[in-house]
Amino acid sequence: MMVELEGIVCGSRPVGETSLLVTILTDSRGKRVVRARGALKDFRRTGAALDTTARSQLILSARGFADDGIPVVYQADLIDAHVTFRRNLERLLRALFLLEIVRLHYAEGGELYNHLATGLAALDRGKAGDRVFLWWFALRTLALSGHLPVLDRCVACGAGDSAGGGQRAPDRGATSVAIPAVDLVALSLSAGGTVCRSCAGRSDPAALEPLSRSILSTLLALAGASGRIVDPRAGRELSPREAMQVGVILRRLITWPVGGDVPLPALDTLQACGGALSHPYPGSE
Ligand SMILES: [Zn+2]
Repeated sequence: MMVELEGIVCGSRPVGETSLLVTILTDSRGKRVVRARGALKDFRRTGAALDTTARSQLILSARGFADDGIPVVYQADLIDAHVTFRRNLERLLRALFLLEIVRLHYAEGGELYNHLATGLAALDRGKAGDRVFLWWFALRTLALSGHLPVLDRCVACGAGDSAGGGQRAPDRGATSVAIPAVDLVALSLSAGGTVCRSCAGRSDPAALEPLSRSILSTLLALAGASGRIVDPRAGRELSPREAMQVGVILRRLITWPVGGDVPLPALDTLQACGGALSHPYPGSE
C-alpha cells in the first residue's frame, strides 16, 4: 500500500551511511518525518525533490502512517524547486523564515499549506520579500492556525465593541484602515488581543506589548488583507522604532501559543543582518 501526497521540504539530516530523514509539511497529513533510503548514495533517485524549500509530489509507504513509524519515500518528483533561493541568500533566508514559523503552527495542512506554497512561490518569483510581506505572512499564519489576536476592541472590558469603528477589510490597495475609537494602548498576549488604557493598567506587564496608533493601524491593515498579499505601502508611516516594535510583537505572537521560548534562527539572522539586507526585517535600520 502506498500513500501519494504533496509536500514542502522543511529540512533533512543524514541517517546511517546513505539515507536521509526528511521533515515534510504535507498538504493533508500534517508534519511528517520520512526516510529516503539511499538518497545520499544515488542522488538521481530523488534529485532536488528532497532539498529544503522544495515543493514535491511524493509516493510513500503506507506503513508509518498507521503505526507512528517512519514512512519510506518510494518516489519524489519536483513540483517547484524555487530555484532562485539557491543563488539569492536574502531570498533563501526569507524562505526559511516562512518555513520556521509555519512549522511551529502546523496541523493537518490544508489552508496553511496553501499559504506557505503561495508565499514561497511569491518570494521565488521576486514578487514579495519586503518586510511588510513577512509581517503579513506571519499574521496570516496566526489567523489560519487560530491564533490571530483581537485588534478592534478591548478584549478585557469589551470597550469599542459598539463604537461603530472596528476591524474592516480595507479596499484593494488601501494601506490603512479605520482604527477603533476606543484608546487601545497595548496588546495583551495572555488575553489574546488589544486592551484599553485602564485594562492595560490591570494586566500582567510581562504579557503586554505597547501599541501606538500607527502600529495598530498597520496590524489592522495586515489582518484585513487576509488571503491577499498585503500592499507593500502598508506601514509606511511607521517610525524605525515603531517598525521594530511590530517585529517584536509578531515574534511574541508567533511564539506565545507554543510556550514562548522557541528558537527562530532565520528570524534572528534576518534581524542581525538588518541594514545589510535590501529589505530589513523586522524594523532594523
Ligand atoms: Zn478595557
